[in-house]
Amino acid sequence: MTVLEQIYEGKAKKVFKTDDPELVLVSYKDDATAFNGLKKGQILGKGAINNRVTNYLMQVLEKEGVPTHFVEEINDRETVVKKVSIVPLEVIIRNISAGSFSKRCGVEEGIVFDEPTIEFSYKNDDLGDPLINAYHAVALKLATWDEIETIKKLAFRVNDVLKAFFKAVNVDLVDFKLEFGKTADGTIVLADEISPDTCRFWDSTTHEKLDKDRFRRDLGGVEDAYAEMMRRILG
Ligand code: ADP
Ligand code: UDP
Repeated sequence: MTVLEQIYEGKAKKVFKTDDPELVLVSYKDDATAFNGLKKGQILGKGAINNRVTNYLMQVLEKEGVPTHFVEEINDRETVVKKVSIVPLEVIIRNISAGSFSKRCGVEEGIVFDEPTIEFSYKNDDLGDPLINAYHAVALKLATWDEIETIKKLAFRVNDVLKAFFKAVNVDLVDFKLEFGKTADGTIVLADEISPDTCRFWDSTTHEKLDKDRFRRDLGGVEDAYAEMMRRILG
């Protein structure tokens, strides 16, 4: 496989074409943004950590029956994945109240829910990724009802697998964002990344934050938190 030209540069990753039309290469950057790009910075070593963490977790999920875009880790920062057409939804699962949920609903962070919740944001930077429901997603033709059903089932399955995985390394999986894509034959697979950029991780004992909230909220120790999560995940 040969890597060809860059086709996209996002806030955290670059995507390159390859000579195989069904594969792309993603390259993880150290760049960090928050608040829809308003806050910008760098987290040293983040690209390599998020690449390795994402690939490890995608393989855990594959073993548990969740189809993913993962193909092959090429080096520290770069991974070959199946090229998909991204369903323009940010799929957010929450086990514990935090972040925008707490703000929107006027509740403190840290309320443990009896059951996980799911919500969708329309993936659109110009609009600031607005919260929408499944009817809106279908009305906007972002996905069909069948696709939404599949995405919901897969997202809750991901939560079951990852909650147990993180519990075993003394981490509470508070909430996270997933993206799904469609392969050439229309199959829905888990895409994008699963990392401290896209999940909230709290140490189960100390409740210390081990994720991007350290960057968002200027808590310090950002690099250490990412490294600690990689150590716990990869062993
Ligand atoms: P953003 O676009 O939000 O700034 P990134 O910097 O992470 O995000 O850019 C990566 C882009 O690649 C995202 O738009 C994501 O939806 C997209 N993407 C993720 N996985 C795949 C894939 N398997 N095939 C094609 N595009 C993908
Ligand atoms: N999230 C993400 N990308 C986004 C928005 C949210 O990865 O564009 C993740 C975020 O890291 C957290 C979860 O989704 O783990 C829920 O985020 P929330 O809605 O609370 O928003 P935030 O507080 O990050 O603005």
